[in-house]
Amino acid sequence: MRVVLLGPPGAGKGTQAQIIAGRLEVPAISTGDIFRANVSGRTDLGKQAKSYMDAGDLVPDEITVAMVKDRLAEDDAKAGFLLDGFPRTIAQGEQLRGSLEDLGQHLDCVLELVVEEEELVRRLSGRRMLVDGEWVQRDDDKPETVRHRLEVYREQTAPLSGFYESEGLLAQVDAIGSIEEVTARAMAALERSGQPNDS
Ligand code: AMP
Repeated sequence: MRVVLLGPPGAGKGTQAQIIAGRLEVPAISTGDIFRANVSGRTDLGKQAKSYMDAGDLVPDEITVAMVKDRLAEDDAKAGFLLDGFPRTIAQGEQLRGSLEDLGQHLDCVLELVVEEEELVRRLSGRRMLVDGEWVQRDDDKPETVRHRLEVYREQTAPLSGFYESEGLLAQVDAIGSIEEVTARAMAALERSGQPNDS
């Protein structure tokens, strides 16, 4: 099954992506994670992406789209995938459709995690991640950057909801609740959209 997970920063995309991909037995492909790994590894890609990420801006499409295209062409993504954090713009959505067409594939479902903005700010400001045994705040989770990332989401990414609705692919999932509740809603939405194990 080929799934896109859409939703604002702080909606629980990363957590749900791991769980849902595990259930579907497909790789979870997170562009944010790929960028962060490249920044830590000080690769050329990481150097190109870092300033945009630190500012809470989107990394330019030329860089991001090529990276995702390569990743989707890898063997483990042939039978299905769950994309987390991509596409983030209508242009990326169109590029994704083109890349999949080239591979003779198409998306089965786009899950949108829905959480109101007040709750997102609360969650992002308190969020920490484990690095070398220590809980640290992501640089882009600082309050100023959080507000900017939400703005970027509203302006550049939220329109994808209508884009996928018009393609009949959108399933909105209420993402307020426990991790298990949200997963259950997402799996139910996927089942309604087709057979989860039908790759
Ligand atoms: P995330 O972990 O998905 O919140 O992504 C963290 C940061 O990586 C974002 O704020 C962007 O700077 C960058 N990023 C991740 N995915 C994309 C994308 N699809 N397009 C552009 N930038 C991205």
